[in-house]
Amino acid sequence: KENNGRENNVAKIKVVVRKRPLNKKEVARKEDDIVTVSENDCLTVHEPKLKVDLTAYVERHEFCFDAVLDEYVTNDQVYRATVEPIIPTIFQRTKATCFAYGQTGSGKTYTMQPLPLRAAEDLVRLLHQPIYRSQKFKLWLSFFEIYGGKLFDLLGDRRKLCMREDGRQQVCIVGLQEFEVSDVEIVKEYIERGNAARSTGSTGANEESSRSHAILQLAVKKHNEVKESRRNNNDGNESKGGKVVGKISFIDLAGSERGADTTDNDRQTRIEGAEINKSLLALKECIRALDNDQIHIPFRGSKLTEVLRDSFVGNSRTVMISCISPNAGSCEHTLNTLRYADRVK
Ligand code: ADP
Ligand code: MG
Repeated sequence: KENNGRENNVAKIKVVVRKRPLNKKEVARKEDDIVTVSENDCLTVHEPKLKVDLTAYVERHEFCFDAVLDEYVTNDQVYRATVEPIIPTIFQRTKATCFAYGQTGSGKTYTMQPLPLRAAEDLVRLLHQPIYRSQKFKLWLSFFEIYGGKLFDLLGDRRKLCMREDGRQQVCIVGLQEFEVSDVEIVKEYIERGNAARSTGSTGANEESSRSHAILQLAVKKHNEVKESRRNNNDGNESKGGKVVGKISFIDLAGSERGADTTDNDRQTRIEGAEINKSLLALKECIRALDNDQIHIPFRGSKLTEVLRDSFVGNSRTVMISCISPNAGSCEHTLNTLRYADRVK
């Protein structure tokens, strides 16, 4: 491809790392902050190690990415560095995805939650612009979860959903509730409702939600009244509200460390761990294939990548936000997260 997929000067794949500040507990434990961010979008992890004779030393690991955001960066700055540049491309048939990857407690949900709201604000503003107004574009929202390889509607009483592919390789999640959203206040309500419906078990909210992927989608559709009335005859190809022009998916991934739960004593935990491991590996492979402009994208590797299939072909944009904890105790997970991000970039 001539322009290397960089229409509108927006990179096809962007990998960003965000470091969170030390939290109160870590400060109380006098844990060291072992991650230093430098100005050239690089960072260094100072890994504490012991020699055989038990003398301590530090091993340094340097990584560079498209952007490295330190603990002083606000959510608004995160939005501007990641999602904002993609927004106009949604009106030009782009399917975009924004992932938050990282261990539980590294800031994925903190980072992800405000993004769809800001995106909706910008999308609504754009669709009222004179150039788009005449085309009757509308914004639609859906929110679901993948838990143990199964889909649940977060805005539809956690109903279990099935996925179907039509002949044109479009994914369709049968029965997924979609809502037309015309202002951001409504978007905010749906986000809150969906988050409240995320997997919670007896072990506590964060524990359980760390084993699921939450997917919030904002789709720009071209409203077509004639088709809309015909839709009742159900030709299956047209989604509710018209034809999808473009969309953006926000994915709060399961805790990356959960993929290692495959040796846990609890059978259910092992099964879930294996599923998470499979989906995070498949995701990495799909993004790499996308980056190399490969014809064959290995979607089939997991439920997550199958669901996102139509976002890995054609005009696609991917932003990976890798979240890291700065404390010494998280060093191993932090290095794992950075190595994963390094493979994707
Ligand atoms: P995860 O979703 O990855 O498990 P959370 O987003 O729930 O992690 O973050 C864990 C805790 O750290 C939360 O209390 C959150 O408010 C806090 N936190 C995360 N990132 C930041 C940040 N950049 N600045 C301030 N607090 C943060
Ligand atoms: Mg979370």
